[in-house]
Amino acid sequence: MTVRVRLAPSPTGTLHIGTARTAVFNWLFARHHGGAFLLRIEDTDRERSRADYTANILDGLAWLGLSWDDEPVIQSERIEAHRAAIAQLLASGHAYRCFASEAELEQMRERQKASGSAPRYDNRHRHLTPEQQQAFIAEGRDAVVRFRIDDGATIGWSDLVRGEMRWSGSDLGGDMVIARRAPADRIGDPLYNLVVVVDDAAMAISHVIRGEDHIANTAKQLLLYEALGLPLPVFAHTPLILNQEGRKLSKRDGVTSVGEFRAMGYTAEALANYMTLLGWSPPEGLGERFTLEQAAAAFDFDRVNRAGARFDWDKLNWLNAQVLHELAPSELREALVPLWQAEGWSASGASPEAWEQELSELLGPSLTTLRDGVEQARPFFERPEPDAGARQQLRADGAIAALTAVLERLEGRDASDSADCPDLSVEQAKSLLAEAASAAGVKKGVLMKSLRAGLLGSLQGPDLVTTWRLLHTSGEDRARLRQALAQG
Ligand code: GLU
Repeated sequence: MTVRVRLAPSPTGTLHIGTARTAVFNWLFARHHGGAFLLRIEDTDRERSRADYTANILDGLAWLGLSWDDEPVIQSERIEAHRAAIAQLLASGHAYRCFASEAELEQMRERQKASGSAPRYDNRHRHLTPEQQQAFIAEGRDAVVRFRIDDGATIGWSDLVRGEMRWSGSDLGGDMVIARRAPADRIGDPLYNLVVVVDDAAMAISHVIRGEDHIANTAKQLLLYEALGLPLPVFAHTPLILNQEGRKLSKRDGVTSVGEFRAMGYTAEALANYMTLLGWSPPEGLGERFTLEQAAAAFDFDRVNRAGARFDWDKLNWLNAQVLHELAPSELREALVPLWQAEGWSASGASPEAWEQELSELLGPSLTTLRDGVEQARPFFERPEPDAGARQQLRADGAIAALTAVLERLEGRDASDSADCPDLSVEQAKSLLAEAASAAGVKKGVLMKSLRAGLLGSLQGPDLVTTWRLLHTSGEDRARLRQALAQG
């Protein structure tokens, strides 16, 4: 069988992590089998659907590396096919018009509630005579179209994740609305379960892979396939993503959209890797850090868990750090520079690219997210305010003498050869430090700590000599030391 799967997002919001994870499983399955991964934009809810959400969803999928085949199908453009299917169901007697008003349906639900029974449509208009129908039309009533769901029906399928599934027609809430209310000579707007079946069949979808919140829909959709005489796809219902408390991840949990993860500095590769682990146990030997291609080679539904997958920030952070630490310096630079530019920062010196690359390499090992690469780069672009520890160090014995000795030597260099050789090499920096320490009569440790405090306004930070060399190229080392001495 040719594998053809699809992701069917509704453009009523930005790309949600749950939709993205469903996309990952569809993509992995398609690529594993050399099949097609298709997109369908389910924009039939005209009030809530927006073109900018469609753009956001497509951008997010592309960013994650989830390439799709063919142009996305736009569901609203297929409304005639949906109406034709409804007309077919009306003609075959699988569907009928229901004239019950909202107020009548509300009364029905109130009665059900009062008697303690579950809310369901009581199929009251299933067997209207032509005369009764005419009477409702004469009253000026509109009608929905309902699809018959017999209480006695049993529905079963073999789910790739959950195994044998059984549903009874009596648990599906009575005859289902498949077209919105409209005058009885027309067919109103077709609704979700009907359109999905018509479109999945038209797109020759072989496997429907979606979240387990769609299980009851699957039961209803199977009845529609049967009534329309359409070939059945195979179904796979993936586990939900849960928050730390074990409840379904929702907007209340804060970060839920792919764009938010991206803005926090997660890489596409780490996020895609992490989403693959949300519900899939990789086989021995693959480990937990892998590319989408590696996962696709090994992917199968036997290793998708039934239990919900708890979101684990530590694991995501670990993966993101792995991805960042594996990047070549030039790749890390390419990832960081746009973020630095967004802060209004640009590199100085004769070769800004080399400077950026050296800074990227300096920060790389301590980054968990790309955002860290902004925060940790900040003191290289903006002069920091010294913190309490730095202020204390600058008042310590020998600090002023040490920094004065360093500054004098730097100024001496500037006066002699700065025009030809403004950069400070590692050797030059080290010998300048040794000379300054002995001239000032301070231990090297005091000098290093004071220099860090003077340059970074903090006692913490990356390798001092590299830090200093970078700040030297931008001319900031002298300026900061002068300022520290003036304040000290
Ligand atoms: N538009 C539906 C959703 O976003 C698609 C469900 C399906 O895959 O059938 O939940």
